[in-house]
Amino acid sequence: MADEQSRLDSEFVTLNAVRELIRLATDGDARKSTYDQALEFGAQICPKILGDDSLLKKHRESDMVRKYRQKARAMSVQSNAKVEALGLVRNDIKEYESLVKAGGQKKDVDRLQKELVDMKRAEEALNPQRHSEHQAIFRDARTAIRGIPEVNVGLGTRDFELPDGDILRLRVLHPDNPEHISGADIVYERHDRFKKAVNIVGVQYKIWENRELYLNEERMQEQLTKMGKFFCENNLCKAGVEDHKFRFPYCSAFLRPTDRLQSPDQKLMSTGEHVPICQIENVKTTGVRGGVKLTYENVRKLSLSYDVFEGLFTTKKIGSRTLGYEELLGLYDQFGDLVDSDRVLIHAQEFQSDLSDPLFSSLP
Ligand SMILES: [Zn+2]
Repeated sequence: MADEQSRLDSEFVTLNAVRELIRLATDGDARKSTYDQALEFGAQICPKILGDDSLLKKHRESDMVRKYRQKARAMSVQSNAKVEALGLVRNDIKEYESLVKAGGQKKDVDRLQKELVDMKRAEEALNPQRHSEHQAIFRDARTAIRGIPEVNVGLGTRDFELPDGDILRLRVLHPDNPEHISGADIVYERHDRFKKAVNIVGVQYKIWENRELYLNEERMQEQLTKMGKFFCENNLCKAGVEDHKFRFPYCSAFLRPTDRLQSPDQKLMSTGEHVPICQIENVKTTGVRGGVKLTYENVRKLSLSYDVFEGLFTTKKIGSRTLGYEELLGLYDQFGDLVDSDRVLIHAQEFQSDLSDPLFSSLP
């Protein structure tokens, strides 16, 4: 049970990070950033946590899909040979199709017809190939783009095409042991690659229970300090002349407490407050036995909700001041310090494709 809870914590904290990543990449498109889509995309980019072994995923599958998985598992045991759920559902679809044909009038086969629709949906969900074609929110990018500064932490990249034509380049670091993850971090950069300029924001996701987060624990302090060092102490939180005149103070790193799920079939939801890391000192309170903690009521005085956070970053009213590529490369020298063996780290760079090159688009 304890293991299931920590697995659930790992999955949910990662899922919330992935969901916010999608939200930032689509400028807050609510149709693209549902929990189901985040699970789908999460399975692609963090397969160890949100892939086939995911508890959350198993519990969100339709009854029909679960029935076929169970049937296949039981039959495999019975016959001592691997039986595939996909084959079983396909056989039944064939049977039902011929029954519907033979059954005559619509009213005489409506139940069979309904079952057939569910089976076809299950077939799609069980078929990895068709599934990814239908569900993929972002397609893999077709052209390679060079010239974007690179962090050197030994991670491969994957480029996705965003709905507006921009490219999202991801480096994802996820620990080998998905049962013991203490949280997730996103470092999100929005580039203007033609001006060689970038705005950057960091979010640290942590599970809290009953909307309270104790800060005393050494690991917790360490992780917050790392984010603060990388973002705030590198002067990313200082105003820059080229930026929006009307904007929030420059804090570019946020703590995002994420509600603990009690069970995998619970309705997925969480508070979405983002607390500026350099402001934690000002909103913390003292709890029992001198423990220092954040509570929902207190962080609300300074925090931003998830949609406000996304909207303000998209319009450059929060996040770092605008940095040049030279400065960004300097910052990357310290990027390794953010890597933590028990946290998921998603490094995202969003930039224009070649199609939006000002030289290209000014051609007659
Ligand atoms: Zn700051």
